[in-house]
Amino acid sequence: MLDADFFHRWMAATAASVDREAERLTALDSPIGDADHGSNLQRGFTAVSAALEEEAPATPGAVLVLAGRRLISTVGGASGPLYGTLLRRTGKALGDAAEVSEEQLAQALREGVDAVMQLGGAAPGDKTMIDALVPAVDALGDGFGAARTAAEQGALATTPLQARKGRASYLGERSIGHQDPGATSSALLVAGLAEAAG
Ligand code: ADP
Ligand code: MG
Ligand code: MG
Repeated sequence: MLDADFFHRWMAATAASVDREAERLTALDSPIGDADHGSNLQRGFTAVSAALEEEAPATPGAVLVLAGRRLISTVGGASGPLYGTLLRRTGKALGDAAEVSEEQLAQALREGVDAVMQLGGAAPGDKTMIDALVPAVDALGDGFGAARTAAEQGALATTPLQARKGRASYLGERSIGHQDPGATSSALLVAGLAEAAG
């Protein structure tokens, strides 16, 4: 079973990897965006870490709802509301249980990813974070390591795609040949799950 501490570790691992990879995320957002994805998420996850330390929420659901709220309030741009919705909706789906099973987390994440697709209107293949998140959720039944691999492969597979959502879509065919920054950061989020478990 996964307790609140697991979810704190998940968010801490993600904050650390976003910190480490911020320059790369911003560099990916340079040719097909506005070169702010790394700094956006760094600001967001720094605020998430501070909020979690201050409020120390006691249930898995509360950890994710607080993290999602903080991302929405601190990250400008497209990715803040989208990541915020992902975590908030996943947290709400977990309810107020003190511990949740891996199956419950997989189901809750599926609801969270559905909410992101509804909010942003993106489907798989549109060259967005959805291209890492959907394969990850699909693979979660095989464990966190499988989800991590699926997310990383999903992020790599955005390179040949033409963007149909977000800023990169303004470039039309010129968005082809670049890896999507949001799919790349989503793979970090999923890797954080595997780290928290390991
Ligand atoms: P902005 O584009 O506002 O500067 P960021 O650079 O922080 O925001 O985030 C860009 C990322 O957000 C993209 O790489 C993409 O993965 C994701 N994104 C943008 N629009 C959408 C959308 N409608 N649905 C899902 N993801 C999206
Ligand atoms: Mg950007
Ligand atoms: Mg921006």
